[in-house]
Amino acid sequence: MKAWVVEEQKPIEENPLQLRDVPMPEPKGKEIRVKVTHCGICRTDLHIAEGDIPLSKKPIIPGHEIVGIVDALGENARRFRTGDRVGISWLNSTCGKCKYCLRGDENYCPEIRRTGYDVDGGFAEYVLVHEDYAFDLRDISLSSEDLAPIMCPGITGHYAFRISEIKEGEKLGMLGFGPTAYYILRVAKSMGMEVYISTRSEEHKKIAIKYGADWVGNIAKENFPDKVDAFIFFPTAGNLVERALENTLPAGTLVLGAVTMSPITISNYSSNLWGRKIKTIYQVRRDFGNEFLRIADELNLTIEKEMVRFEDVPEAMKRLKRGDVKGMVQVIEFVE
Ligand SMILES: [Zn+2]
Ligand SMILES: [Zn+2]
Repeated sequence: MKAWVVEEQKPIEENPLQLRDVPMPEPKGKEIRVKVTHCGICRTDLHIAEGDIPLSKKPIIPGHEIVGIVDALGENARRFRTGDRVGISWLNSTCGKCKYCLRGDENYCPEIRRTGYDVDGGFAEYVLVHEDYAFDLRDISLSSEDLAPIMCPGITGHYAFRISEIKEGEKLGMLGFGPTAYYILRVAKSMGMEVYISTRSEEHKKIAIKYGADWVGNIAKENFPDKVDAFIFFPTAGNLVERALENTLPAGTLVLGAVTMSPITISNYSSNLWGRKIKTIYQVRRDFGNEFLRIADELNLTIEKEMVRFEDVPEAMKRLKRGDVKGMVQVIEFVE
């Protein structure tokens, strides 16, 4: 089968992704093989290709926002039949036995394996996954091209929204408006919340306003119109964390979504940190994924996206790096 593999990490302009013919993966035990029809391209894939994150497996096929059709079953796989539509996220498997797995916090499992990072992912014609870690998309009516980005920014957004503890009628602030924030905005507005968004991108400002943001500006320069009950923060700019706290009410929660962060300094503890909670998003978990799939389907959460042909993945990733994406996300579409 054809696959884009990363063997040596280097800047995307130097083509770390190589198109290769690799052996077709064979499902064993409870694994299923999925013929990929759509795979979202994520900024994490760019980090993996360029070396911002060290390689866990070499070579690796990136891609963790996968939608496809079950095409072969391992000898003990019973959950799906061939022809069923499934999704695969970053969470490829966990041990199922540690204290985190047993109490439902599988995202903290020390043995977590991640799709497109520890295990080959969806920048390929076929991919394997343990049946229990595939998302069941048989009763979902959203299109596969809209479901692919839900597998990462959608689920992650729901995770952030859930742990922000925000309630109906409250005010939500966000810094950074990428696809994850987009999904949060759509859900928050469907629940009647007031949402303030700080972003520098002119294109993203327009999309935020189009989908109901109550205020769009730049928190580095100005305050929100009101302090918020919850604040979800996406960039890696630690210097803005205190600005976010300054715009959050006591009793409020600040959720940090980034994987890395420049140093965070709090100069005024009493006015800005005292009474607030700070939480971080860590990996992905299936319960939040299943919850969000139902919400997304009910709200018909489509997203403005750019479709990418399989052959054009490296070019698309170069444009992602330059910030030259039409819409909010890029989705690879596999055509026969
Ligand atoms: Zn992702
Ligand atoms: Zn575990």
